[in-house]
Amino acid sequence: MKLVYTHENRFLVANAHNILEQHDISTIWKNEYASSAIGEVASLDTWPELWVVDDADYDQAVHIISTALSAKNAPEWVCSNCDEKNDAAFELCWNCQSEPETVEVK
Ligand SMILES: [Zn+2]
Repeated sequence: MKLVYTHENRFLVANAHNILEQHDISTIWKNEYASSAIGEVASLDTWPELWVVDDADYDQAVHIISTALSAKNAPEWVCSNCDEKNDAAFELCWNCQSEPETVEVK
């Protein structure tokens, strides 16, 4: 197993997890709930971590995440609930965790 992504914002880690799942890359969380206690100051030790189960997936996973999270080719979206701007990489509003209302055409 290899650590592929970690961030103090667990929504970013959750987003990375979702993206990798869409690419059929198995991942596991570590410290998923470590920083959720109210009043606790999250240190680097307790940042949620995303690990790839199969080391062979590591390079691809890093590439997918870096591409998705930079997402310069994708537009930002504005939350219909709180009017916050969200980077395209976010699947939920970073501010209020609402889903974007944009309906994807399938
Ligand atoms: Zn919002």
